[in-house]
Amino acid sequence: MDNRIHFFSQIDVIPKKIESEKLGIRGRQANEFAELGFPILPGFILDTDIASGLKVAEVKKDIKSLLDKCAGIVGKKYGDAENPMLVKVVISSNLVVTNYPTLHNFGLAKTTIKGFANWVGKDFAAHEVLFLVRGMLKIEERIKELEDNTKALEEITGVLRSLDDALGIHGPSNELASEKKAKVVKVVPKSAEDYMEDYAKYFPKGFFDSAEEQLLLTLSEISRMFQMDDQNDNDTALMIAPMVYGNYGKDSCSGDFFSRNVVTGDNKLQGKFFRGKFNEIGASGQDISKVGDKHLKELQKIARILEDKFKEIRQVRFTIEKDKLWLIEQRQVAQKSTQSDIRLLLDLAKRKVVNNAYVVKSIEPLRLNEILHPIIDPDSVKGFKSWKGGIAGAPGAAIGRVYFTTDSLLEAKKLAIQKGEDSRCILVAESSFAEDVKAIEVSTGVLTAEGGYSAHASVVARQYGKVSLVAPDLKIKGKKASLGSFAFSEGDYITLQVPFYGESMVYSGTATLIEPDPEESGLLDFIAISKTFIKKFNVRCNADTPRDAALALSFGADGVGLCRTEHMFFKAERINVFREMLLSTNPKERQKALDKLQVMQREDFYGIMKAMAGKEVTIRLLDSPLHEFMPHNDDETAGLIAHMQKSKKVKISKAEIAASVEALHEFNPMLGHRGCRIAVSYPEIYAMQIRAIFEAAYKLRSEGVDAQPEIMVPIVMNASELKLIAYGKKIEGNNYVGIVDIEEELRKSKKAKPVEYSIGTMIELPAAALGAGEIAKYGRFFSFGTNDLTQTTLGISRDDFTAFMPDYTLFDLIVGNPFSTLDSRVKELIALATERGRLTRPDLVCGLCGEHGANPANVRFCMEAGLNYVSCSPYSVPIALLAVAQAELEKAGA
Ligand code: PEP
Ligand code: MG
Repeated sequence: MDNRIHFFSQIDVIPKKIESEKLGIRGRQANEFAELGFPILPGFILDTDIASGLKVAEVKKDIKSLLDKCAGIVGKKYGDAENPMLVKVVISSNLVVTNYPTLHNFGLAKTTIKGFANWVGKDFAAHEVLFLVRGMLKIEERIKELEDNTKALEEITGVLRSLDDALGIHGPSNELASEKKAKVVKVVPKSAEDYMEDYAKYFPKGFFDSAEEQLLLTLSEISRMFQMDDQNDNDTALMIAPMVYGNYGKDSCSGDFFSRNVVTGDNKLQGKFFRGKFNEIGASGQDISKVGDKHLKELQKIARILEDKFKEIRQVRFTIEKDKLWLIEQRQVAQKSTQSDIRLLLDLAKRKVVNNAYVVKSIEPLRLNEILHPIIDPDSVKGFKSWKGGIAGAPGAAIGRVYFTTDSLLEAKKLAIQKGEDSRCILVAESSFAEDVKAIEVSTGVLTAEGGYSAHASVVARQYGKVSLVAPDLKIKGKKASLGSFAFSEGDYITLQVPFYGESMVYSGTATLIEPDPEESGLLDFIAISKTFIKKFNVRCNADTPRDAALALSFGADGVGLCRTEHMFFKAERINVFREMLLSTNPKERQKALDKLQVMQREDFYGIMKAMAGKEVTIRLLDSPLHEFMPHNDDETAGLIAHMQKSKKVKISKAEIAASVEALHEFNPMLGHRGCRIAVSYPEIYAMQIRAIFEAAYKLRSEGVDAQPEIMVPIVMNASELKLIAYGKKIEGNNYVGIVDIEEELRKSKKAKPVEYSIGTMIELPAAALGAGEIAKYGRFFSFGTNDLTQTTLGISRDDFTAFMPDYTLFDLIVGNPFSTLDSRVKELIALATERGRLTRPDLVCGLCGEHGANPANVRFCMEAGLNYVSCSPYSVPIALLAVAQAELEKAGA
């Protein structure tokens, strides 16, 4: 046997000493398959040393004996009149320069066609001849091209074109050709023999006379082509392997499956098989589980081995011919859910194929977004108007009112928050640009018409964990949009359903969502494993409700890092009580309103601290400027008038309300009367909140619940502010009552033992960062509010940035979005403040609670800068935890 020809099979692997380059890409793949010891079809490779200058006469004998060897394994015979083995010829280059077709069905000649047709039927046999012709014509076409034989080339190209039309093949791909086969099998106008007659003239003489001659002639033609083709460069091998057919008599089928469910990750084969069919196109298959016990067991075993070897879900194509299973192909799966990957990894760890570190390292943190968000309850959208289709840009489910511009969306969002209404919005636009990032960031999803997976909207949506659907049918005209016959207007609710796998839907109205099941998805186990690698660093959550706190806790949160108390006042039933307090004309009236608010706040704090029992809960005292609470339109004004009438029996006029709004107006509220500055002017507001915190804490204590409040003061610019609010001050007859005094008074009145609590501050202003050494004297913790710290460091308003961000991006004046990735100067301030703070107070606890906390790159910085925790939204907690675990693993590895 020529030592440049290599045989492979289930039990014969081409030895390592043969350089794998010599086999070409496809040859290498075949040999790797052989290494697995699976029931693969045998074959042989003429390597790159011999394929290009092939002298067919010299290898004739070898080829014959190797064909016999293959035939022995598959139970047929090459050239046999009754049961002919057919082969494919694969041109296997290392660098794919020319798009060579795969050549199928060699061995179909006048002597074998009857026998073949007896197994597969006449029509199918005729088609297989056409495919053989088509492949071979491609070779002839290339030869004529290389010969510069324009006339012959034109003729062959014309023949190929009409052949493709007849076969229903569009485009150059040969893969496509085989896929289209089944569809057209029924419309064969001529017999196989007629086709052989018709096309023989394009091929070397005797091409259809015998199977043996056919293959040798083919190899000669290919070798002739190689020799003429400069691009070939002696870099191409040839592989010859038998073919099997899922329609080859009874007990035959073909199919395709994933080693497990690519959506749920269930450890069960997912796929279909097609009995008596060559392939699946146009045929309705049966679930792979029904393929029969014997074969199912074999396939399950194969799936397990593949998963263990590749440590990922694999896709497998197989054919069963006359009850014998052959694996045709196995490959990577491009589209699979995060859940399926996580469940696979957990199984692999359980089977001891990988260790826990491998599990943790294998999932990119932001991928967790996919399993952290709810999906649509199919029952809830029954009967809804809908549209089906589009390209999934970022999978998930989104509900919201639609807005067609970033401006209108941001405005509507702001208003809805202020009114305590449902603030979910969806951006709908033909395409999105840099200035739309802000809208996507605050929306639940984005629906666009242009592009696809890599469209701007899709990329941004994935980055922010939002849903994105690209629907080319989308038309927008003014304040109306349509998707085919489904029309909707600005402000209407729609629901986007973009499943990971399968078709996307757009529904009118709001669907019911099914919350993700973190246990079922494997997320909880995954988090538990991740946490074992985390040493000191914590991940807390930003939560304003007991529900959010409980959710975050279930996701592994180590406490609450930020409870924004103003959000509680924006609720519909509370906002007018707050306004009542703002409108009161004397301290007594104001106190009455505050007493009502205190009860509400106590309930909130009670719920959150109870949910987080045993863990710190950082409660930030009121931060928003007061004008944000006042009515914004006639409806709200009317609501307030009615409230005042009902609760206080006071008739208040529109003009009076307008005057109060005017009085609270500020030119630059972001730098105005907000945060601790409000408490300096209106100590009773903070006093109410502080009392509510301690009342809740003492109540919990009396119930045996370990409440651990941390009281946080926002927008501190110097130590004196914090000192005043924490410890109070007596000056010229004015007595400012501090947090410690309020707690002491309450404790004494309750005759209770002290609850543990601490006082700290947000660091949100450069002045505070620079003055951290002094500030740390009065606070036991710092929490970096990087939203404000970014805007005050860069001097860029976080709400107005998007207006000019595109221009900045255009001229490369800024890299990325500093409100999502920490700016280097902001980082410097954080590091410096931490250092200065700890010089004063070595055990100063430092955390970060701005929106940056969920971004894995920022998490790494926080760890390096010596912070103790990051705090982020509940749904981001697992992402941050994973980022921390991966950083720890990297550190340990280094
Ligand atoms: C911050 O400024 O980063 C912060 C957490 O506070 P807010 O976003 O509420 O201003
Ligand atoms: Mg802030």
